[in-house]
Amino acid sequence: MPLIPKSHPRVKSLLIREKLVEGFDNGLVAKEGLLAQGRGEAFDYLLGEKTGRAASNAIRAAAAQILLAKTPVISVNGNIAALCPRQIVKLSKQTNAKLEVNLFYTNEKRKKTIIRILKKNGASEILGSSASSSRKLPGIDSARRIVDKDGIFAADVVVVPLEDGDRTMALRNAGKIVITFDLNPLSRTSHTADITIVDNVTRAIDLLITQCKKLSKRNQKSLQKIIDDFDNRKNLRDNVMQIKNNLARRAKIA
Ligand code: ATP
Ligand code: MG
Repeated sequence: MPLIPKSHPRVKSLLIREKLVEGFDNGLVAKEGLLAQGRGEAFDYLLGEKTGRAASNAIRAAAAQILLAKTPVISVNGNIAALCPRQIVKLSKQTNAKLEVNLFYTNEKRKKTIIRILKKNGASEILGSSASSSRKLPGIDSARRIVDKDGIFAADVVVVPLEDGDRTMALRNAGKIVITFDLNPLSRTSHTADITIVDNVTRAIDLLITQCKKLSKRNQKSLQKIIDDFDNRKNLRDNVMQIKNNLARRAKIA
């Protein structure tokens, strides 16, 4: 990894980028994953590269929804395995959510590499690799619709960080409650999910873990109220306003 001086004004962003590049070199990340990261970075810049109030509200609602789920599943792709494998395993253990490797660009070798990384970070069971337990989600083309019968297929709540719009829609059509992390408040995924956390997953994942711990003491009724009070459309509008206000401020000082 090239040395990035700590004093560099964009050190955090560059370190995240390096994780993706390293993940690509190690066969974890797809070429397309690098492009998705670039798109995310642009939105992160516009959002001010911090967790705003709207994102915090979405994180709280997501925690309540995961805690209320009967069969929650966290879907892991190459970018997530490269960016925050330790935290994803921690979240899964803390909330009894299963882990499933589910790739947009199916590739058995990459799948095995992702499983290896998750195991290295403490995961015991990882679904999504057995052909005999694969099932098809209706509504999307062949390779992208395969899910695990004991994982996403049976889940009531699915956490799909950095997901594509078509697949998010297929999960909704299959009756799943969908939680996503997506820096782009305008994407199809953001608009299709039940709860969209518009934040960099590298910042938001630790906050989600903390919220899950905090809210685990609450009863079901109080968790349900947090979800009922959350409005994803309004939350997305608040994120767009955050971008607008940032730009307006910059326009004044430019
Ligand atoms: P959609 O298919 O939902 O319309 P898209 O085709 O523009 O979106 P995809 O490549 O399908 O984009 O999905 C990847 C999404 O993940 C992008 O919206 C991107 O902004 C987001 N993203 C990339 N890196 C991160 C990150 N580190 N944290 C959160 N979101 C990210
Ligand atoms: Mg897409």
